[in-house]
Amino acid sequence: MSLIVQKFGGSSVADAERVFNVANIVTDTYKAGNSVVVVVSAQGDTTDDLIAKAKEINESPSKREMDMLLSTGEQISISLLAMAIEKLGFPVVSLTGWQVGVHTDSNYSNSRIRKIDHERLQKELDKKNIVIVAGFQGINRYGDITTLGRGGSDTSAVALAAALHADLCEIYTDVDGVYTTDPRIVKNAAKLKEITFDEMLELASLGANVLHNRSVEMGKKYNVNMCVRSSLTRAEGTIVKEVVDMEKMMVRGIAKDSDVARISICGIEDTPGKAFRIFTLLAKKSINVDIILQSIGRDGKKDISFTVTETNLEEALRLLEENKDTIAYENLSWTKDVSKISIVGAGMVSNPGVAAKMFEALYEAQININMISTSEIKVSVLIDSALADKAVRVIHDKFDLA
Ligand code: ASP
Ligand code: MG
Repeated sequence: MSLIVQKFGGSSVADAERVFNVANIVTDTYKAGNSVVVVVSAQGDTTDDLIAKAKEINESPSKREMDMLLSTGEQISISLLAMAIEKLGFPVVSLTGWQVGVHTDSNYSNSRIRKIDHERLQKELDKKNIVIVAGFQGINRYGDITTLGRGGSDTSAVALAAALHADLCEIYTDVDGVYTTDPRIVKNAAKLKEITFDEMLELASLGANVLHNRSVEMGKKYNVNMCVRSSLTRAEGTIVKEVVDMEKMMVRGIAKDSDVARISICGIEDTPGKAFRIFTLLAKKSINVDIILQSIGRDGKKDISFTVTETNLEEALRLLEENKDTIAYENLSWTKDVSKISIVGAGMVSNPGVAAKMFEALYEAQININMISTSEIKVSVLIDSALADKAVRVIHDKFDLA
């Protein structure tokens, strides 16, 4: 007998028919002799609708009240699913985050789980109940309701799986797994059987953000066996785990990130402390910098280019302009028309020539590279946005990922 945590996203419980579909999956798992804990998100667009309702009343409500409101979406789902399971004739109980004892910090709207008391849960499981838990919510030390940030139910599920030492945490969604790249860009993208936690974190942008990033970080930390699969087809999905069989597969997948802007600071005096000054300025405002490139000094001057997200561009430029004299540079240039294309694979470290192969594909397609960065499991290039989809296709072909 195994203990299985199953999480169902909002689209999987969007209406009565879907709720019964989920009830069938859950009870089938239970009938097979497993203990089952189910985590659900709010139905369909409920969370967005609740946000819109709040805005009708107050454009900037306190985060505490927002969490009070948003947590109701999941409360609807757990009771409806429990009723469906009752109707199918199985023992079931639904519990909110605070009934379970999901303790979080007090960072309303984006809180983190501190610990989970699982006595109540265990008691219900011992009574042979199927336990339905509201995702996305917890309680802080003042006894107030908190939420974990958009998409946070995945994290609730993995945290419960970790706390209960579950054998498996299945994340059911409306896609049937993780693909080698976005199937909207590459028609013959292939579904991956397995992927490592690290690869999954790097490929988060694939397949329409299948998993909440923090759930993957947590899965890695507590070594939870996770799997992503579809609640509609029930097809075997993608397993996310620590080590996977590499099968000569150096590159697991290709990610495209269009939310990138490049800033170049040109003609900086070639003296120590410039990079320190520039990046401290940005860090103080919590502006995350991604790829950084510095030129070799020439005639006493150097250039530094780097990328930020598009949302951070304006503020980064303002900071740099305000500090033009202290940094001492000649001019600033920037563009939003760039995208980052990354190849990701845990097997890259031990396989020379992977980056070269990627560059070859780009060269053959006459796509120019602006910037390059590498890590143990990733090679990223910055290119013109207009060519981004084409780049993904040619690289996907080059590595035979179909
Ligand atoms: N209902 C929440 C949201 O829409 C949490 C979740 O779906 O995971 O973000
Ligand atoms: Mg989600």
